[in-house]
Amino acid sequence: MQYPLVSDMDRKVFAEELEPRLPKKLFDAHVHVFNKDCFPAGFNLGEKSCYQKFGGEHRSEFCVEMYKKLLPGIDVTFNCFGSVNPVADREKDIPYHDNKKIYSMAVVSPLDSAETLERRLVDYKLVGVKPYPGLAGAAYGKKESDVEVREMFTDEQLEVLNRRKLIATVHIPRKQRLADPLNQEQMPELCRKAPNATFIFAHIGRAYYMQNVIGMLDKLAECPNAWLDTAMVNHMGVLKYAFDHFPNDRIVFGSDAPIAWLHGKSVEINNQYAYLMAEDYRIGTAIYDAEAACEFTTFYYEQLRAILDCGLTEKQINALLYENAARLFASVRV
Ligand SMILES: [Zn+2]
Repeated sequence: MQYPLVSDMDRKVFAEELEPRLPKKLFDAHVHVFNKDCFPAGFNLGEKSCYQKFGGEHRSEFCVEMYKKLLPGIDVTFNCFGSVNPVADREKDIPYHDNKKIYSMAVVSPLDSAETLERRLVDYKLVGVKPYPGLAGAAYGKKESDVEVREMFTDEQLEVLNRRKLIATVHIPRKQRLADPLNQEQMPELCRKAPNATFIFAHIGRAYYMQNVIGMLDKLAECPNAWLDTAMVNHMGVLKYAFDHFPNDRIVFGSDAPIAWLHGKSVEINNQYAYLMAEDYRIGTAIYDAEAACEFTTFYYEQLRAILDCGLTEKQINALLYENAARLFASVRV
């Protein structure tokens, strides 16, 4: 089934379930934006990459249009970073930003010298950085899943982040994600090493099912500069657990657009999770509904629906969907 960008079903879900309960302002702290000219000539992300739906890229103008289509009447501010693919040119890969409605971060590899990184951050007026396990893996000749948190930044890079009081959105490595013992040790270590920087652990530490999150937030909760984003988490139990076990003023909403523009839902299956995909793109552990057994809505709406349905107060919802991120991003001096 070929889904349009916004289907009739999407419009119905928005009108009936989301719009009446959503605040009028939303801050999306986790968005990927890049033009395909950041890649070497002839490079292709692959036939099943979700970016193919958007022409092999995800342009800033397109992203702004999508917010208007998907969240009409809602004033959206967002934070974005370029492609985390190691072959992308990280200098060309810095998305448009105005530091009012759109913020941006530099994708960083351990191969980037602290001088290059600092110049990039200052010249482009960026609020922080986006490291990625794949970039550290490429730098150290390791598999992405074997990378350690402490390999994602060099000490010199951390010194820059700490001195400039910047933000890092960290997608943690390793198969067991949030529940990995090395990660459990090294995430608080990272926070302590750069106490003036802010570390947003993306996707609630990539915990998409209950067994992965239970008991795993306590050490991070004790670090005042550790934050969480909820990107791609549409599991009510995981969201509720995070709200019950982590300081609520340090959790921000993120969508992971453009993946979130696609139609599908992430589900817990026997202490694992999978993305049920309505559209034939591969995003990690994916199960494609080739026979169109269900009529889906977007991951974006499933994330908002789960947040609105997990029993939070209006105040908690406002803090998560707008206020926490607005306060944090506006506090960075660029
Ligand atoms: Zn992401």
